[in-house]
Order: sequence, then structure tokens, then C-alpha cells
Amino acid sequence: MNQHTQRLYQQMKKRLDKVVPDAELRLKAEIAAEILKLKKEKNALILAHNYMEPALFYSIPDYCGDSLDLSRRAAAAGKPIIVFCGVRFMAETAKILSPASKVLLPSPRAGCSLAESISADDLRALRRRYPDIPVITYVNTYADVKALSDVCCTSGNAAAVVESLHAPRVFLLPDAFLAANIAAETGRRIVYLDRDGRLPDHLPESPNGIIIGWHGKCEVHERFTTSDIENARRQFPDVAVLAHPECPPEVVAASDFSGGTNAMIRYVDSSPARRFLLLTECAMADNVLAAHPDREMIRICSLRCPHMNEITLEDTLEALRREQYEIQVPQPIADPARLALEKMIAIG
Ligand code: SF4
Repeated sequence: MNQHTQRLYQQMKKRLDKVVPDAELRLKAEIAAEILKLKKEKNALILAHNYMEPALFYSIPDYCGDSLDLSRRAAAAGKPIIVFCGVRFMAETAKILSPASKVLLPSPRAGCSLAESISADDLRALRRRYPDIPVITYVNTYADVKALSDVCCTSGNAAAVVESLHAPRVFLLPDAFLAANIAAETGRRIVYLDRDGRLPDHLPESPNGIIIGWHGKCEVHERFTTSDIENARRQFPDVAVLAHPECPPEVVAASDFSGGTNAMIRYVDSSPARRFLLLTECAMADNVLAAHPDREMIRICSLRCPHMNEITLEDTLEALRREQYEIQVPQPIADPARLALEKMIAIG
């Protein structure tokens, strides 16, 4: 190990001593040191989602955060190369907001069950059938779906986006649970399209309006249950339970807090609680624990995101070396998708 790698290893060890075994950390520090060298030579920017493994999260990124936060960073950076350590829809968003940069995704297999649950053809058919109902799409969609939307939203600003439209009915696609959770938060009724993309014949009365959802689910968050919360509370009565809004509504209702990944981090940062159950991708609990070694994180690591787990330090090194796998978004898709994203960013 040369001096530079040794220094990096020491920095990583200080942070990750409780989280990553030492032998693994030594190996990862070697790879991270190579990435950092290449990053400098190529004047690249590395962005990492909060779900990245701890050794990656705490070594190579210029910025870590949620998908929106990272895309804003991408747009502002003006770098020739951006390596996005996250999944494809996030890298696409970075490319749309930063079209002059070469955006690289370290693994071509890093997809997302939510993004794959709705296609541009699905949305085109919906718009033809219900032209008067505005369409909000979650950022966890591919660029061609964003391009057909009125506005995008994140889990953090979905309620504000719904309210900004002042419409009696809105589509909030594609996450069925996010739509239900936002309906509960904004006092609206939730109604679902059937599998053929049709509304029920009779819509319920709702003075505050109706949110119409699709059937998409996050393959990680849909599997958390209220039993997970009951078990944790039985063993640790003081535990603070944080649920991502992609979890089922009954799980969100049984939690102490619900919010996107950045909101969860802020909650832990400012909470007097000592113990937390984070109902989201397990790597995030490791990353939060590394930042708060005095707290305890209860993890349910049997539920992992296979797509986020595709992104490794090894693949990130190869991506930078070979400048692979480049994200392309054709201009006729990128331009309207950018409008939908910019409207979302303006709402905050
Ligand atoms: S955690 Fe869920 S929403 Fe996020 S990338 Fe994985 S499958 Fe998609």
C-alpha cells in the first residue's frame, strides 16, 4: 500500500471501523485510491446515492444524497464526465439536466422495479383516454415516461407537487403505495387504475380531490410489514421507526416518521433517540451508523435492492477507465422530460 492509499485507508477506517471488516476495507481502499486518481486525471464528478455500500459511499464521491439532490449537483457541476453511482433512471435524470456531460452508469444492469412498471406506451394510452387529468410522475421512471408527464415529483415533494396543481383529480404514477401515502397526507381519496389502465365507472366523492394511482411497487419497500415494526418495538420499546413513503400505507402509519432518504438522514441527525429502525435499503442504515457511531441501527438486511447492489467500487473503476456505460437520452425525449423535471425543481 503506497502512502496515498494508506492515508485513504486510515480515513475510511476511522469512519467505517464498526461497519466494514478490516480485510475488506484494505481491499476497497486500494480500489478507491485508483478511482480517485483517475477521477482527477479525467476531471470527472462522482455522485453516489444514499443506498451505495459504505466503502464506496465514504471514499470516492464528490457528493452523496438522494436522486434529486444528485441531479441538481450534476446540473451545477459543469464537468465533462459524471459517474453516477446509482440506478439507470437517476443517471438519465443527470444526463437530462446536464446534457453536455458524458454521464456514466457503472453497471448496465442497475434498473428499478418501479421504473420498469410503466412504459411510455402505457402513459400515452392513459393521456389519450383521460386528456384532462394532469400527470405527475415519480422521478423513479425512465426518461420517455417523464417526457409525457406534466410534472415530476420525488418522495420528498410529492405532496407539494399534488397541491400545486389545484386539480380535482391527478394521476400520481407509478408507485401505488407512494400515491396512497400522499393521498393520506394531503387529505385526498386514493383510486387505482385497473390493469388495462382504466378508471372505475364511479369515482368516490372527495371534497379535497382524488389521487389516481398505478400498480407499480418498489420490490424492496413493498416487503416491509407492520410485524417488522411490532417485533422491533417489542424488543426495543425506545426505537424510532422511519419508513420510506414507498412502503405500504399501514407500515407508514405505524412508523414514527416517513420521508425520503435525505429526510430520514436529517431526522436521525436531529433526533434525541438512540435507536432507529430504518425501513429502507439496508446499506443506508450502515451509512447512517458510520456517521453516528453512538447510535444503534436495527436493520432488516434480508431485503436488499438488487439494482443498487449492482454498483460496486470495482465496476466504478472500470466505468471510469473505459468510460462505460454511457447514458444517452435522445433530444426529443430529453427536452420535454427536462421541462417536467424543472417544474418539479421549481416547486422545491
Ligand atoms: S430501492 Fe426500489 S425504488 Fe429504489 S432503485 Fe431499488 S427497486 Fe427501485
